[in-house]
Amino acid sequence: MSTESIHSKCLSPELDSRFKHLWCLVGNTPMLELQYVYKGKPNRIFVKCENYNLTGSIKDRMALYILYKAYKNCQISPDDMIVEATSGNTGIAFSAIGKALGHEVKIIMPNWLSKERIDIIKSMGADIQLISKEEGGFLGSIKLSEELAAKGGVFLPRQFENLFNAEAHEMTTGKEIALQLESKGLVADAFVAGVGTGGTVMGVGKQLKNYNPFVKIHPLEPQESPTLTTGYKVGAHRIQGISDEFIPAIVKLDELEEVVCASDGDSIIMAQKIAKQLGLAVGISSGANVIGAIKLKEQLGDDAVVVTLLCDDNKKYLSTDLVKDEPVKEGYISTDLDFRGFMPIARLEKPLFG
Ligand code: PMP
Repeated sequence: MSTESIHSKCLSPELDSRFKHLWCLVGNTPMLELQYVYKGKPNRIFVKCENYNLTGSIKDRMALYILYKAYKNCQISPDDMIVEATSGNTGIAFSAIGKALGHEVKIIMPNWLSKERIDIIKSMGADIQLISKEEGGFLGSIKLSEELAAKGGVFLPRQFENLFNAEAHEMTTGKEIALQLESKGLVADAFVAGVGTGGTVMGVGKQLKNYNPFVKIHPLEPQESPTLTTGYKVGAHRIQGISDEFIPAIVKLDELEEVVCASDGDSIIMAQKIAKQLGLAVGISSGANVIGAIKLKEQLGDDAVVVTLLCDDNKKYLSTDLVKDEPVKEGYISTDLDFRGFMPIARLEKPLFG
C-alpha cells in the first residue's frame, strides 16, 4: 500500500504513516480450528477471530480501507466530517478510525440497537443521531446521511454500495484466511458469513476462489427475517449486524451458493456455548455463523474445510438476550452440540498493509 500512496497528492506522508500504524491494530487476526461433537460425532470447523480488531469487530477492516482509498483517490479532505448510517459496528469502527485520523464523525442509526453500541460511539466523541421506526429506521438513517452530505464538507463511506468494502475483505480477511490455511497445508472448501452489507461474504469469497475455484461461498441470514431469500424486509430478528431491511447493492446472489439460515434463538445459545465451553466471548452473529458452518459441514462431509468468522466480541450485547436464558426450540443445532477445544493457527508474520 505504501508504494502506491507515494503517487497520491491527497495522502500526505504523515497521514500515510498513520494509516500504516493503524494497520498494525486492524486485521491480521488469529484463526482457530474449533473442535466439537455434534450428534455424538467429533468434527471441526475453522473460524477467523475478528473480535481481535481495534474496536472488537470485523468492520474495522473496511472502515480503514475505505478511508485509505478515499484519501488515495482525493475523495476526502482532512477537514471533512465522516457521516455514516449504520447498525452499530460500522459506527464504532468509523468513530475510532475517523478520530485517529483527525476527523469529526457523525453516526446515524436506528434507535432499537443495543445501548452499548451507542455509548461506545459517544465515548469516542462522535456525534450520534438515533432514528425511530416512525422516522424510517434503517432506510431513514441512510436517507438522512445523504441529505447531510448534499450540504458539503462531508465524506460518506456508503458502506452498502462502496466496492472498497468488499475489496477490503478480498485484500485482507480473505487473503489472511487463505494464507493461514495454507500454512497448515489446507485450502477452503466452503465459507459462510452472515450478510449485513455483504462486504465480507463477497470479498472473502472472491479471494478464496483464487485458491480453490470450486470453493462454495454461502451467505447466511436469520431464519426469522429472510430478506435475501424473499427480496424484501420480512419479520424481525435478534442477530444484530446482519439482515437489515434490504438486499445491499454489494451482494450479488447469482455469484453465491444457496443462502444458509440460522434462527436467532439458536444463534444466541450457540454464542453462549462458545463463551461457556471455550472461553471465547463473542456476539450473536458469531453464533449464527458457527451454526451455518456446522450445517455446511453436515452437507459436505467430514473432510471438508469449512471456514467462518467470529465477527465481534460480546461486550456490546450485555444488555441483550445474549446474557439471558434462551428457551430451546425443536430443530436447534446448538442443543445437540458440545465444543471440545480449539487449535490456534498463528497470525501472519507481518500485517498485509502494515
Ligand atoms: N456481524 C456483525 C456483528 C456485524 O456488525 C456485521 C456488519 N454489519 C456483520 C456480521 C456482517 O458483515 P458485512 O457487513 O460485511 O456483511
